[in-house]
Amino acid sequence: MQTNMLIGSAFEAGTETEEAILNPRTGEEILKMPEANPDQIDRAVAAARAAFSGWARTTPAERSTLLLKIADAVEADLENLAALEALNCGKPINEVRNEEIPAVADCFRYFAGAVRNMSGPVAGSYMEGHTSMIRRDPIGVVASIAPWNYPIMMMAWKLAPALAGGNTVVMKPSEQTPLTALAFARIMADILPEGVVNVITGQGGSVGNTLVNHQGIDMISITGDVATGKKVLMAASKGVKRTHLELGGKAPVIVYGDADLARTIEGLKAFGYYNSGQDCTAACRVYVHAGIYDSFVADLSAAAASIVFDNADDTMNEIPPLISPRQRDRVASFVERAAEQSHIEIVTGGSAADGGGFYYKPTVIAGALQQDEIVQREVFGPVVSVTRFTDDDPVIDWANDSPYGLASSVWTQDIGKAMEASAALQYGCTWVNTHFMLVNEMPHGGLKQSGYGKDMSMYALEDYTAVRHVMIAH
Ligand code: NAD
Repeated sequence: MQTNMLIGSAFEAGTETEEAILNPRTGEEILKMPEANPDQIDRAVAAARAAFSGWARTTPAERSTLLLKIADAVEADLENLAALEALNCGKPINEVRNEEIPAVADCFRYFAGAVRNMSGPVAGSYMEGHTSMIRRDPIGVVASIAPWNYPIMMMAWKLAPALAGGNTVVMKPSEQTPLTALAFARIMADILPEGVVNVITGQGGSVGNTLVNHQGIDMISITGDVATGKKVLMAASKGVKRTHLELGGKAPVIVYGDADLARTIEGLKAFGYYNSGQDCTAACRVYVHAGIYDSFVADLSAAAASIVFDNADDTMNEIPPLISPRQRDRVASFVERAAEQSHIEIVTGGSAADGGGFYYKPTVIAGALQQDEIVQREVFGPVVSVTRFTDDDPVIDWANDSPYGLASSVWTQDIGKAMEASAALQYGCTWVNTHFMLVNEMPHGGLKQSGYGKDMSMYALEDYTAVRHVMIAH
């Protein structure tokens, strides 16, 4: 297993505090990962700075060729990367092998094509005797910081547009899930010029904090908690650095009375519990019309109770454990507090599963009211709340009544109702009769405290490049 950090062209181990990397499926320790020391952080930033001028001057075609090579190398290493991600996150192997790693390769292929096809306003003589044109140029050295829920996919979402745009990067994976990032570092070191990508490990409060405050960093891209995003903004304000923030979510799901119930239940079984709800877009806050509420709660509870996890045959598993005992305790405490309310019923789940792994049973909480904590706060676990609404209730207002603004969905067979709800929802994405589906051609990103960075799509390439005006006097 490759456990060293990538600094310039050198692979080296950190020397500071060791983090125990756990197997969430068993609770056993996989290894201890030391974090980077201040000199190593400095050298990673210096390597990225030194590489910047050369990388920034390459043509889109040259960068594209290398991004395509990275995609091919990811596919060639698919089994190894999938096994590592499954080990470090406890994810079912089929999920990583068939969905996440192919999405990583596709992300690099998308940006390899996108950077050769950027478009914008036409050059023109907007003042007599002068011609103006717009350039999009790289920003510089990007500090990219990823969370633990989709370690390699978040890394791809950050690296591919940043590199395509001509930036160099210092990447820090989550301290809990560094294994695929370090394996990926080896792939990139074989393909990219020295220093274009550097990968360092460590805790957010130490290594992450030093990195985002470093004077050699021009832009900070982070996916994580809202509180972390606010700290990053404070750090960025000192140097007026650009930021790209992808923060939490609490996705509302509106199920109207005319929804196709079987299809909705099938969708919410998948999208409410995928990755055990450790997903910022998880379909976790459901509003159901009173006309179908009772059937909905019964059917969703039966569906949730049928989800397979902790099976000895991993190919049968549909969801992973939670990432850590701490995360499992956090989820449990939300459910315990909800259960204390007399109007709430825990219809299924509601407790940790037996055994050494960090599993929590898929849970349905019925009877939740708009002001309940379980409706308002991000749980990041396999817990779906269900709230009843009638024709007299302002369900769109309830859906919008959240500090988050990442994702939402609407389930109805009435296209007009779907369009009106989609226009009124204050979320970066609204799905109709589905949830959670992502494609590299379309943006993923939020409003409100979910942040404003866009991942994937041409919009990400815009986020990682600067608009510049060049004017020529004739
Ligand atoms: P987190 O904020 O604790 O950590 C995220 C990353 O930030 C980690 O690498 C961590 O080490 C680093 N970090 C923490 N404090 C830092 C600091 N002061 N300076 C610099 N770096 C710091 O989040 P997490 O628990 O790893 O991930 C879960 C959160 O991420 C949830 O809130 C979830 O909604 C969010 N998330 C959002 C998206 C999205 O696209 N919007 C996607 C996935 C996860």
